[in-house]
Amino acid sequence: MVENIEIVEGCRLPVHMRGSPNDWSDWPLAEVLKTLMVEPQHLHLYLKKPLNPSDAEKVVSNPTQQVKIYYVHYIDYNKRLDEWVTLDRMKVEKIQMPSNAASHGQSVTQLTNSTNISKNELQEDSNPSTNKRKKKNPPNLNNLSRVQSQPVLSHSSSFSVLLNSELKPGDSDLIEKEENTNASQPSEITKADIHINENSNQSTGLPRPTGSMVQVVHEDVLTRIKNIQTIYLGKHLIEPWYFAPYPQELSQCPIVYICEYCLKFMKSMKCLERHRQKCKLYHPPGNEIYRKHPLSFFEVDGRKNKTYTQNLCLLAKLFLDHKFLHYDTDAFLFYILTEYDSNGFHIVGYFSKEKESSEDYNVACILTLPPYQRLGYGKVLIEFSYELSKIEGKTGTPEKPLSDLGLLCYRRYWSITILDVLINLKQKESDQDKAQISIQELSEVTSIKKEDIVSTLQHLNIITYYKGQYVIVLDNNLVENHIQAMKKRKIRIDPKLLHWTPKDWSKHKY
Ligand SMILES: [Zn+2]
Repeated sequence: MVENIEIVEGCRLPVHMRGSPNDWSDWPLAEVLKTLMVEPQHLHLYLKKPLNPSDAEKVVSNPTQQVKIYYVHYIDYNKRLDEWVTLDRMKVEKIQMPSNAASHGQSVTQLTNSTNISKNELQEDSNPSTNKRKKKNPPNLNNLSRVQSQPVLSHSSSFSVLLNSELKPGDSDLIEKEENTNASQPSEITKADIHINENSNQSTGLPRPTGSMVQVVHEDVLTRIKNIQTIYLGKHLIEPWYFAPYPQELSQCPIVYICEYCLKFMKSMKCLERHRQKCKLYHPPGNEIYRKHPLSFFEVDGRKNKTYTQNLCLLAKLFLDHKFLHYDTDAFLFYILTEYDSNGFHIVGYFSKEKESSEDYNVACILTLPPYQRLGYGKVLIEFSYELSKIEGKTGTPEKPLSDLGLLCYRRYWSITILDVLINLKQKESDQDKAQISIQELSEVTSIKKEDIVSTLQHLNIITYYKGQYVIVLDNNLVENHIQAMKKRKIRIDPKLLHWTPKDWSKHKY
């Protein structure tokens, strides 16, 4: 019975994802994006280690025959978890056929052998550690509830900063904050102001008029399938998360070797060793503009260092799904964060920035390479971008859409930065001089754009309407958690060590 069911592209069924229990009822639903027949000796190019050792035998029961494999996307999970699986990991009895085919009662054409995608363009799954990261669940800022009776909040009017112990709960004028701290919205404040919805571009389907995403490319099956298995960069072997348009012949290599200084990519260790004898770089090209042991930032002009910055974009695409690759790097500056030792300056991450942005973007793309993630470098990159904005005397915001991890990192940075200002203010207040601050002032001290300040105050759920006015209320737990978080934040940017003068790009031909 099961043997008669044809698993076709577009169908959905429960698939045993790594980390999920053995009981199929707990397996997530996945969509089959591609099917492929492969020679048994090539299976290792596609499949990660089997979930159970005995499965390996099941998969290749007849080693002389081709094996059918399926590239699946787990519904509601990030694409970085997409992978090739074999039939034994699928609950075929629960298959849902593609709706168009099912509704017309047509037989579904098997595309497996007729597609042009060579097996070499296809590859294994990404970093197993990312399996722990489950559902993408950004706070929904569009889910706004409103209290009609409250006035519009102005950016220039000051709020009192209160501790929750200063509120009188019995007061009839106190509007209760909502239970859901992520979506609370006490007023009309953000109706016009917030346009931080990270999917806004996708939802309209229209190209952005400005920014780095001037080109909208419709995703096809090929670019939905990871094409590079592993990269070797510096001392790290890294498994990519997403497709990147490296030359097709590289997808046939089990490992792509990348020079960690000039980011040139090669097909073998031998090539890399030969290259290193010729390549004189021990740091990114461009100017070193910041150094505080062991970190250093380089500014690289996309026009002057085209090859480097294009290679950087290509490398970044392996880990960024939502940004489209732009080969035209002329209009951007790239800020490369490195960690230095006696061997050289090793790339940790980067962000790019438009030379001129009409929308106050101070970051276009931002990435911490996987070996350096969860170590605080994301916040360092973000902090650095705002320090540049401070020198420019501007406020800035990252270009949207942000990735799920990018949004989390920005949320944490904004929260910690704004809370720091508020708590310091509260600690310094006296009877004569009560703590008060406006959104405008918060924006000026931090260089964080006003819209992001408002969304962060709402996200933290600390702004409320009390006795006829808006106030910021700091909860004891929030203050305590913040103090602990600041203690853990070891790496900070020291603005005194930043040697940088902004250029007026409108006067420069770039
Ligand atoms: Zn090199």
